[in-house]
Amino acid sequence: MPISYDAPAAAKTQRNYELLQQFYPPLTLEKPRRSPMRELISTVLSHRTTHADEELAYDRMLAAFGDWAGVLAAPTAALAHAIRTTRWPDTQAPRIQEILRRIRAERGAFELDFLHDWPTEKGMAWLNDMPGIGLKTASLVLLFNFHKPVLPVDTHVHRIAQRVGLIGPKASADKAHQVLLEQLPKDALTLLNFHKHNYWHGQKICLFAKPDCARCPLKGFCNYYREHFGPATPEALAATPTHWEAAWGALPH
Ligand code: SF4
Repeated sequence: MPISYDAPAAAKTQRNYELLQQFYPPLTLEKPRRSPMRELISTVLSHRTTHADEELAYDRMLAAFGDWAGVLAAPTAALAHAIRTTRWPDTQAPRIQEILRRIRAERGAFELDFLHDWPTEKGMAWLNDMPGIGLKTASLVLLFNFHKPVLPVDTHVHRIAQRVGLIGPKASADKAHQVLLEQLPKDALTLLNFHKHNYWHGQKICLFAKPDCARCPLKGFCNYYREHFGPATPEALAATPTHWEAAWGALPH
């Protein structure tokens, strides 16, 4: 059902979900791609860092120090050197060691499986209390690894939510986390698809510098589109693809 540019934000969020669900391959709640510990530490490493550089840092860190106990015991400067492909290795190295120290001190081992049995809010608060772990990282671990009904709002989800008008134009990522969660069903499968499809959209179409609005199925209710091009014409809507096309390239991880 088409909606207008001035539709309530919740209706836009629902339509965003429906259209991107058709546009990109739908996802299922499968076995997590990474262990919880890897998801947590890799997300710390990924801050303002490309996926390739994050993976390189992770691999070099484990190659240099063997396991989590080794990473914790390593000289901090050596750890910073191992993760030098990340954006701020001198900041992230002591953070990672403090996270590891707290996990072992509080849980007796380097594992996070107990979060499966914890209420969502308790798990969020526990992760969020770690140095350098914000709502986004905590949500990624809880959603991807434990299928908890939370929504990671990364830079792509945040940007699209602002441009389309799902949140206010100045709403922070943390505010977006709260607002979008109120607008979406509280089930992990919906939230996983909403997160991932907007993440892909931000990487492939709604780019930071130059959004590719001609290909975008959200143009019929996107505030940014109306502000820059005027309301979408019937011709522009009819010419908009309804599915991601493989010829445009592979979707990100
Ligand atoms: S119409 Fe343009 S600005 Fe709006 S979501 Fe699509 S690509 Fe982004």
